[in-house]
Amino acid sequence: MIQKSPATRLTRSMLEELDRSDPLARSRDAFELPEGLLYMDGNSLGALPKATRRRLETVVREEWGQGLIRSWNERDWIHLPLTLGRKIARLVGAQPEEVAVADSTSVNLFKMLAAALHLRPRRRVLVSEAGNFPSNLYMMQGLIDLLGAKHELRHADPDDVEAAFDEDVAVVSLTHVNYKTSARHDMEAVTDAAHACGALMLWDLSHSAGSMPIDLDGCGVDRAVGCGYKFLNGGPGAPAFLFVAERHQENLRQPLTGWLGHAAPFDFEPSYRPAAGIARTLCGTPPILSMTALDAGLDVVLRADLREIRKKSVALGDLFLELVAQECDGHGLEVACPEDSARRGSQVGLRHPNGYAIVQALIANGVIGDFRHPDVLRFGITPLYHRYVDMWDAVQALRDVMDRDLWRDPQFHRRATVT
Ligand SMILES: *Cc1c(COP(=O)(O)O)cnc(C)c1O
Repeated sequence: MIQKSPATRLTRSMLEELDRSDPLARSRDAFELPEGLLYMDGNSLGALPKATRRRLETVVREEWGQGLIRSWNERDWIHLPLTLGRKIARLVGAQPEEVAVADSTSVNLFKMLAAALHLRPRRRVLVSEAGNFPSNLYMMQGLIDLLGAKHELRHADPDDVEAAFDEDVAVVSLTHVNYKTSARHDMEAVTDAAHACGALMLWDLSHSAGSMPIDLDGCGVDRAVGCGYKFLNGGPGAPAFLFVAERHQENLRQPLTGWLGHAAPFDFEPSYRPAAGIARTLCGTPPILSMTALDAGLDVVLRADLREIRKKSVALGDLFLELVAQECDGHGLEVACPEDSARRGSQVGLRHPNGYAIVQALIANGVIGDFRHPDVLRFGITPLYHRYVDMWDAVQALRDVMDRDLWRDPQFHRRATVT
């Protein structure tokens, strides 16, 4: 990536050069980014695309304000869960009819897990990993309780998940890129191994969709879920998505059988009949304003080439870690993500016992990252709006916080509700 001999120190002007030849440089213009702020938390809440404000304004003023209830038909509001699903399908290597947008990631996970258990009635084990995003584990525990505690949640070793697979396993439910460590599973190998023991494979793409090419169909994945407000820029609390491989759709039975998953919602029949295809994964009325924002966020990602996004994400991540080694030596910061970019998602992490206060001091100094218990400083990399020089500026801010002990200020030690 950077042409230098090991002895050469990186400089800001070397990075300016890289920005000048960056094929994604222009996409930064699609976002509203606050002046003087370096945002490295797009893995937690994507930044606001400029088009989102205009789209929301139009939908509120015209479609809701003037169209009122007619817009369900005239503006095709009713089909937005599947229209947006078709867009997301292009980002995750799925066919257009395999993805829908609905509910939250946690709720979609619940629906997909329950549907998987239904297909494997004699198997009693759900496999995940202890380091998975806690909500995913909580949803599994809740489902097991609901089903009368006949099932068991088994935690796999993240470095050897396949060792936990056997013929008792109904479903393997893992997150593609870990929220805290950024470690990335080999989707194809793990999916193959799950299938080899007869289990279904359910991936959570929350931290990978929109940040790298994904090939759900090519890897033979059965089900997937993912988040709309991270790399898809859908806005706070944006609806999530789910994927069901076409071969499973006809037999899919999910428990949240709301009216919009019914074959004929407006016949108002007293009994549930599932809709054909992916529509049976829907439950209640879609949140149109949130769907609109997600739609605008998706358009920004769809205009770029995911291979370019991934290439730049890797380059920026490597650069960040290299700069930390060069500039912040001696401050006790350790790398808390895979150094091998092939095993990493689109965020980098550092570890420090005073991580929380360091992140707060950084935020006060114009660099927004975040903190994950107990000691991880996370920095999300969003190639659509990050510049190479941003990595330089972020690491200089970190160096400043460490050199001048800025994090010791008591105001940076008070815990907020959301970290
Ligand atoms: C962000 C994230 C979620 C979010 O779940 P919600 O129900 O949408 O709040 C779930 N799982 C993983 C792995 C995530 O990273």
